[in-house]
Amino acid sequence: VPVEIMDKMMNEVIEKGNVLFIKILSMIVLLFMLIFMIQLKRKKELARIAYVDEITGGDTYAKFCISVRKILENNPENLAILNINIDGFKFFNNIFGYEEGDKVIRFIWTTLNDIKQTKEFHAHHYADNFYALFYFEDKKQLFDRLLIFYKKLQNYAVSDTKKYMLTPHIGIYEIKNPDIDINNMINYSNLARKSIKERKDIFYAFFDNTFENKQLHDSIIESQMRDALEKEEFVVYLQPKYNTLEQKIVGAEALVRWKKEDGTTIVPMNFIPLFEKNRFITELDKYIHTVVCKKQKLWLDMGLNPVPISINLSRLNFYNPNFVKIFKEILDNIGLPPQYIQFEITETAILENIDFLNKTIDQLYNLGFKILIDDFGVGYSSMMLLRDTRIHALKLDKSFIDSIGDMRTDKIVYHTINLAHSLKIEVIAEGVETEEQYKFLKAINCDSIQGYYFSKPITEFVFEKILMNK
Ligand code: C2E
Ligand code: CA
Ligand code: CA
Repeated sequence: VPVEIMDKMMNEVIEKGNVLFIKILSMIVLLFMLIFMIQLKRKKELARIAYVDEITGGDTYAKFCISVRKILENNPENLAILNINIDGFKFFNNIFGYEEGDKVIRFIWTTLNDIKQTKEFHAHHYADNFYALFYFEDKKQLFDRLLIFYKKLQNYAVSDTKKYMLTPHIGIYEIKNPDIDINNMINYSNLARKSIKERKDIFYAFFDNTFENKQLHDSIIESQMRDALEKEEFVVYLQPKYNTLEQKIVGAEALVRWKKEDGTTIVPMNFIPLFEKNRFITELDKYIHTVVCKKQKLWLDMGLNPVPISINLSRLNFYNPNFVKIFKEILDNIGLPPQYIQFEITETAILENIDFLNKTIDQLYNLGFKILIDDFGVGYSSMMLLRDTRIHALKLDKSFIDSIGDMRTDKIVYHTINLAHSLKIEVIAEGVETEEQYKFLKAINCDSIQGYYFSKPITEFVFEKILMNK
């Protein structure tokens, strides 16, 4: 083959190869570009989900936190984190529906936008919860700005003709130290807002260290409670109940006290609400039941003819399916007959879940324990309870005893006692402090009296002496 023809063919092959190479290369480049574009779109989409709130179209909570962190890097002054929500927003949703609820959320967002100054920002978190970062010079100036916000919300128009007063609740955390973790700042603004929960007279609150102290107080108690139970720091005091006519002791109520190693005594008000929250109360109630059963058995064996002692039962016990079995076993193991133990259950606890609690109350009743209704008369359906719950006695709440002398109270107390007696239910008056109260209760046949007028809660030792001399 001549050289020229060879060269020509070679050139053609090279040319074709080049074209093919360029084609493949551009396809690869195109492919990479396509992948890059898809990724970019996906990134944008993810960023939108993470940083753009679906309802308001504004920032999300995540974006808010990032923005606050960035601002705090430069150690700015005069900043505050605000936590905002609407008092009773649930009701609004229930009345008008979720779509209208979303409109309210958008309205709050735009209202915040309207009062916003440069470098300030805010975000919708969830439900009716918002966070905002505000600059402020002093509390008065901040208040003036918040008042504008408040007034706008109070004038919210659901439609052209219908107004609805939205009331914001605002918790404010003034940032004094920018190094504090933002989650804590958020938490503090939350605590401040919660401190005015359900209050109608005030719509904003600043975080103050007492909230933190309360948290600290709670966490100290929580760290000590189990040890305290083991070390027998929870002690039982007994407050005698007197028969009204003869003024003889007919029973007693077990009331717990926390005697710490350092000699201080803590009263129930300062730890029971926390124990209700962290559910430790069920352990404590079981312990008090055990202590009282043992003491009663001892007094029985000593021939002291003990009177029944009532134990306060938190409503949380009823949510443990084995509760009756456990309490009965404790009694049986100690060898005490059930008539020496009574249980006090508050009226509000029963009304909270009446059908469910009645089943357990029936079991206790059938085992021979007496059931007393504590704080009777303050619940909303006291009559329903009298109709449906098997009880031996009701303890008329101290608030009724306090207002004896007032004509309406006197009539209510008088007729409640008669009504209870006609249903074969005894009545115990709680918190009797004066002779006047005692005389009135005696005149209208109240069965027993408990209160400072006769005796404060006393130690087991003092109570034992009284039993000995009875
Ligand atoms: P409660 O069951 O209504 O007990 C009556 C409270 O009123 C007791 O307060 C008692 O000391 C007080 N009190 C009695 N008579 C008078 C009076 O004449 N005047 C005044 N001002 N107060 C009187 P305490 O011992 O501080 O107990 C407070 C609450 O703590 C109790 O209210 C009860 O709900 C709860 N509690 C106490 N011990 C226990 C327990 O072992 N378990 C559970 N679950 N709760 C308990
Ligand atoms: Ca009680
Ligand atoms: Ca009571």
